[in-house]
Amino acid sequence: MTVLVTGGAGYIGSHMVRALVDAGESVVVVDNLSTGFSALLPEGVPLFIGDAGDENLVEGVIAQHGVESIVHFAGSVVVPESMRDPLGYYRNNTMTTQSLLNAAVRSGVSRFIFSSTAAVYGNPEEVPVPETAPTRPLSPYGMSKLMTEIMLHDVATAHGMSYVVLRYFNVAGADPLGRIGLSTIGATHLLKIAVEAATGQRAKVDVFGSDYPTPDGSCIRDFIHVTDLVEAHRSALSYLRAGGGSVTLNCGYGRGYSVLETIEAVRRVSMRNFAVSHAPRRPGDIMTMVADTGRIRTLLDWTPKYDDLETIAAHALAWEQKLFLERGGPLQQAESA
Ligand code: UDP
Repeated sequence: MTVLVTGGAGYIGSHMVRALVDAGESVVVVDNLSTGFSALLPEGVPLFIGDAGDENLVEGVIAQHGVESIVHFAGSVVVPESMRDPLGYYRNNTMTTQSLLNAAVRSGVSRFIFSSTAAVYGNPEEVPVPETAPTRPLSPYGMSKLMTEIMLHDVATAHGMSYVVLRYFNVAGADPLGRIGLSTIGATHLLKIAVEAATGQRAKVDVFGSDYPTPDGSCIRDFIHVTDLVEAHRSALSYLRAGGGSVTLNCGYGRGYSVLETIEAVRRVSMRNFAVSHAPRRPGDIMTMVADTGRIRTLLDWTPKYDDLETIAAHALAWEQKLFLERGGPLQQAESA
């Protein structure tokens, strides 16, 4: 009864691996370490360094470890980067999953949990947005994930697989015990940028767009703590093991905070009044993205524990401070994630 976690050395994947190990599960990881770090894995977890789309590798791992379920995190996650490099996103997200599914089908793995995104909705007509809303992604990132969702649905139907697609809203925060967190160099996500500013690694935070028709003019996001997100995955796994049918679920708290409110939360918890400047809108950005969480709360046994922006900001900050000390000072160079 081993769980294969692809991208298990990455930000969310490494939190999932910890949670599974803490729960006494047998886990194996495939990660190409393009953005992940082997140091984020707990001792004793086998790591196969390679691509989740390498069918020979994956089939070997499944056979060797008796894998019964796959939790697929590996992929690229930066909206603006996907606008510049769509083919890279279709390769890393869509084609990789095609190969992974091929290996899963050939090996008889019948349970699959897939990391999707709220970006599949594009600009929603209805907020909070339910899973039944039309899917009209505005970026190759969102499209690459939507294509994967469709493929997974067809594969599951044809081959007797059961899946849970989890559409993540904005994942942030870090392990409350401070063991792991977002370590990517050159990360572009708002909370990461803000805690880098709070720890003196950046001179300022740019707010991309202050003229949206929202209460304070900036975009609105539904931030979910990485630990709660991981618990949703564990609960999805239990659901599938109990014979639950394939389903697509939003993963958020159902509450939105603006970019400016988020920056203020980081200023408050860090007690650092770092500079904030107004910048043009970022291409591909969605104005307001908040989850309708009715389905996940009904279907899964899932009660969020960290539904509080300041707690999320505090955990992200604590991890950033630790990382800053370990890396021995400010980042000299920001590499692309
Ligand atoms: N954002 C910002 N400044 C930054 C990074 C992000 O104003 O340095 C904004 C971004 O334009 C978006 C929101 O914060 O409105 C969330 O962006 P992020 O990249 O964190 O996640 P996304 O919602 O794009 O997945």
